[in-house]
Order: sequence, then structure tokens, then C-alpha cells
Amino acid sequence: MDTSRLAKLAQKADLEAVLTRLEAMTAEEMADLLGASSAAPKKKPYQPPTPDTDFYNLFDRALTEPQQHARQTIRRFMLDGVAPVINDYWERGEMPFEVVPGLRDALREAFGPDPAKTYCTDPFLTGLVSMEIPRVDPSVGTFLGVTWGLAMYSIWMFGSDEQKEKWMGPLESFDAIGSWALTEPEHGSDAALGLATTAERRGDTWVLNGAKKWSGNATFADVTVIWARDLEDGQVKGFLVEKGTPGFEVSKLEGKIAKRSVQNVDIVLEDVEVAESDRLPGVRSFRDVAGQLAIARAGVAWEACGMAMGLYEMTLDYCTRRVQFGKPIAGFQLVQEGLVRMLGNVVAIQGMMLGLAGCYDEPKRLHERASLAKVFCVDKMRETASIGRGLLGGNGILLEHGVARLFADAEAVYSYEGSREMNVLITGRAVTGLSAFV
Ligand SMILES: Cc1cc2nc3c(=O)[nH]c(=O)nc-3n(C[C@H](O)[C@H](O)[C@H](O)COP(=O)(O)OP(=O)(O)OC[C@H]3O[C@@H](n4cnc5c(N)ncnc54)[C@H](O)[C@@H]3O)c2cc1C
Repeated sequence: MDTSRLAKLAQKADLEAVLTRLEAMTAEEMADLLGASSAAPKKKPYQPPTPDTDFYNLFDRALTEPQQHARQTIRRFMLDGVAPVINDYWERGEMPFEVVPGLRDALREAFGPDPAKTYCTDPFLTGLVSMEIPRVDPSVGTFLGVTWGLAMYSIWMFGSDEQKEKWMGPLESFDAIGSWALTEPEHGSDAALGLATTAERRGDTWVLNGAKKWSGNATFADVTVIWARDLEDGQVKGFLVEKGTPGFEVSKLEGKIAKRSVQNVDIVLEDVEVAESDRLPGVRSFRDVAGQLAIARAGVAWEACGMAMGLYEMTLDYCTRRVQFGKPIAGFQLVQEGLVRMLGNVVAIQGMMLGLAGCYDEPKRLHERASLAKVFCVDKMRETASIGRGLLGGNGILLEHGVARLFADAEAVYSYEGSREMNVLITGRAVTGLSAFV
């Protein structure tokens, strides 16, 4: 050893005494001493981070305080009131009625003193709520989307004063539930041209005949908006059909692999009599329905946004806790690649949705813009679901961790409110000026 170093040490301590102490030490004590005196800091135990879905602070920057409050209110309710119970309902294919009072209270807090009016007139706030619900559970999102977004909104948009007086209050409080029936067993994408359910006027009464398919909530709905073609002028008209009306038969669709808590149905209408006062007077043709569908489509893009965020959060949480080969799987390069692709999708979807939010005051172009958002956001959400499901390994197909439920639900979102192809064709027509539907 360098003698100058020994000399320096001798100035600090009695070298003889140090050597004697060292000789007396066991190997373990020696290792301890060296570890303790090492300059390298001891490694802290790994603390999984809280997932941050607002990676670019897009929502932080864009939202007002009441909008932030609305988001947080719904999020809190969904995490506390829905997350703990939803898997069982989903597996049994049942509607979780027990969460409805809590949902009503959360919506009242989020939307303020007149929730129904705000829901129908503030599409951005409605979009944020439609994002936060499916972030935890898409079936509850569809329950609300059908009773408020489709049924209540139809009455708000097209209803008479008497119809509004009768239905808006009960629908807002969930004392009455709504359903909405456009799709038929033989007409889905081509409902505009093909709608086969008929309405025949006989004095002050209309007689409806035909069949409907899918209509969410219809097994228990108090009122269902039925879209039917007037035999006289060939135009599509809307009718409010109440539960228990003779000739109105509803049966639950079984065997679904997505949105299992949503009660979808087959409906048969056989000489169903509806008073003229129950026809929606604001509807003149299918164009009016299409206008409503554009808003609903934007709602589905918000849903995809929430689902992508939820999928990312649940997957990241899992990957930071699941240990393989002695460390959390989040520490492996290939897993990080998957997580980063998921996050990239989330941020891209968020950016597009905040872009769409700025377009609501130009209703003429909402149709094509909502269609593009539905195509893009659902594609990216579906990819996010697929990556997340893979990163959970076998647990990715178990309901326990939440990802499997959203992964399955993504398949319903892919097809409804206009399939991917229909929305591509709507956007394609807008940008080329050429219709490629048929
Ligand atoms: C969970 C769920 C809930 C729903 N809730 C409701 C509801 O509450 N109320 C309601 O009225 N409806 C509801 N629907 C129905 C939904 O809107 C339809 O499923 C959707 O419009 C597609 O119609 P379809 O399933 O009959 O498919 P189809 O129209 O039979 O289409 C089948 C395939 O053919 C493609 N295709 C069709 N035409 C063309 C074309 N010209 N060019 C290229 N491709 C084409 C489609 O894109 C699709 O991939 C719901 C559906 C689901 C899955």
C-alpha cells in the first residue's frame, strides 16, 4: 500500500489499534462495516407511481373549475360506488340497479341545479361525464347514455311541452327510465333507408307494426322512443311507447360477450296503438334523427377516451405490482414498450376529443367530425385494450383486474352508434364530396 496514504491515516487514528480491531472482526462484521461506510446510497424500496393519465396536462389546462369538479365528482362515485360491485353484475348479465341512486346524486352535483337541461345543452360537460363513467365501467355509461342521452334528449329536442312536462322530471330523477329503438333485426347500418317498422295514422291514433333489436334498457324502461316509417308520407317519425302497452313485447338478448350489464333486447310491435299526443312533433324526417345521432356519436368517442384512460391506469397499476423474475414486470423493456404505446394512444385520443369539444358550436359539421372521432378514438382504444389485456398475461382474461371487462366491452363500442365502416364512409363523403355508401 502507498505509504503516504498510511501516513495520512495515522494522523487520524492509532493504526495499531485499528488493525487489532479489524483482525478481531468476523467476515460478516467486516462486510457490514464496509457496506455501512460505503459512499453509495442504499437502494430505496420501489414505490409504484400513481398512474397519470393527463400526461400533457391537457385537461388540467382546458377545464374550468366547475368542469374539474364535475369530473372528480363522477370519478369518485364510480370508484367508490360502482367499481366494488360491477364485476358480479357484469358476469351475471344484470343491470346494477343498486348504483342508480348514487349515480343520480353524483350527476346532480356534476351538472348543477338543472341537470337534465345542462346535460342536453352543454355537450362538453356531458362529454366529460360520458368519459369518466366508462373509465370505470362502460355498461353504466350505456345505461345513462340510453336513458338520458337518447331517450330524454329526444324528448328535449323533439317533444311537445306536454311531453316534456310529463317525462323530463321523472327521467332526470331516474324515477322513469328511457329506451330508444332505431335498429331493427334486418336493418342496422342501413336504418336510414331501410327502416321497416311502420306507423299508420287512424284518426288521433297511430298503429305501429314491426320489430326492433338492441335498444338498451328496454327490458325495464318506462318509455321507449320508437322510430317508425309513416305509411302515408314515407317519412320516419318518433313515438313514445309506454311500458305495458298492448302489442309491445320485449325480450332480453342473451349470450352477449360485451357490455353484459346493459339490457339489450328484441322488441316486437304488433298493432301497438299510440296516441297522436305521444308522437314527437319536432321530428320531420330521418334527418332529425341523424342530427341526434351525431351528438350521440361524439358521446361514444368520449366513452372511448374514458375507456382508454381506465385501461392504461389499470394496466400500469398491475404491471408495477406483478413480480416476475424477481422484479415488477413494469421494469422489463418490452412491457414498457406496451405501456408507452397505451399512453400514446390515450394522449392522442384526449387531444382529438378536446379538439372536437371546440367544434360543438358548428352543428353543420359535427356529423363528420364526430364520425372521425368515433373511428379514430375507438380504433386507438381497442388497440389499447388489446395491449393491456396482453400485459396482464392470464389475468388479462379474468374480471378481477378490470381490464378484461373493458377489453370485452370495447367490442360493443366498436360496432354501435354506427360501425367503423359507416363512420369512415360519413367522413370519407365529407372530405371527398363523393358518397361511397352503396
Ligand atoms: C351493445 C349494443 C347496444 C346497442 N344499443 C342500441 C340502442 O339502444 N338503440 C338502437 O336503436 N340500436 C342499438 N344498437 C345497435 C347498433 O347501433 C347497431 O349494431 C349498429 O348500427 C350496426 O348495425 P348492425 O349490428 O345491424 O350491423 P350491420 O348493419 O348488419 O353491419 C354488419 C357489417 O357490415 C358493414 N357494412 C354494412 N353496410 C356497409 C357498407 N355500405 N359498406 C361497408 N360496410 C358495410 C358494417 O360496417 C358491419 O361491419 C346497439 C348495438 C350494440 C352492440
